[in-house]
Amino acid sequence: MNAPARADFGPVTVYFGEKTGKYPDGNQVVVHGSDTLAVFDTPQVANRVGADVDDADLVILGHVHEDHVAGLHRLPRATVHAHEADLEAVRSWDGLSRHYGYPPEVLVGLRKKIERDFHYVPRPDAIGYSDGATWDLGGVRVRALHMPGHTAGHCVLLVEPQGVAFIGDIDLSSFGPYYGDATSSLAQFRRTLARVEDVPARVWITSHHKGVITERPAFLEAVRAFAARIDERERRVLDLLAERPRTLDELVACRVMYKPEADELWIDSAERRCISQHLDELVAAARVSAGPDGVYRRT
Ligand SMILES: [Zn+2]
Repeated sequence: MNAPARADFGPVTVYFGEKTGKYPDGNQVVVHGSDTLAVFDTPQVANRVGADVDDADLVILGHVHEDHVAGLHRLPRATVHAHEADLEAVRSWDGLSRHYGYPPEVLVGLRKKIERDFHYVPRPDAIGYSDGATWDLGGVRVRALHMPGHTAGHCVLLVEPQGVAFIGDIDLSSFGPYYGDATSSLAQFRRTLARVEDVPARVWITSHHKGVITERPAFLEAVRAFAARIDERERRVLDLLAERPRTLDELVACRVMYKPEADELWIDSAERRCISQHLDELVAAARVSAGPDGVYRRT
């Protein structure tokens, strides 16, 4: 296996996963302080980096999902930090199960999959952090900016003073924002997308696919295109209900977030969570009505 491609920004190194970190891989960020070697998340590519990951003293998780903890098994002695709202998800399988919120039969299959593909191990020793937490690594500092929505604890990790922002699963992909888990929130993701433009950065690194952006206009354009996927999903829900009134189950079967050919274990659960949040917004705005029969209609 070839060494992963890399890019350097002062003390920050990015190791790119397969296809610039397209899921199930991701991009590995490493920060070289004079006192402390820190890594942000540990995607699958962490297993191919070598000493820059294997010698890490500190793991700062921007959020907790299977594809961001795939290298933790290599680092039993490193200190692991996660935002307090994602902390239980890294500490135990029960915590991760509640984080996803999928039905038991999906979770059984998912656990097998993530043990096999993501070397999953829980970290009961993980430590919680809150918004604004900082880590001084020696000549370079990391600041956590709580930007929830993808998960309840999702954070941007900003390297100062260089202004390198790891924006994680605000991944600017063509898929668009993911808010399909129990602890995801569409409303929070909307607010996060309005705020992320204000992060004082000059380099933006995503976990997946987009990789690195170094020009502010390109970043702003990518954020707006990413946010527009939310509006497109809302439009699809409205169009499906314009064809005829439908139940949530029927809308899930039509799919709003995923393509028809996608076949991951959790898709129906994620679609249900995604669509129900859109329906809640549309009902609150009186654009859709919810009947006592569980049927949704355009108003
Ligand atoms: Zn994620």
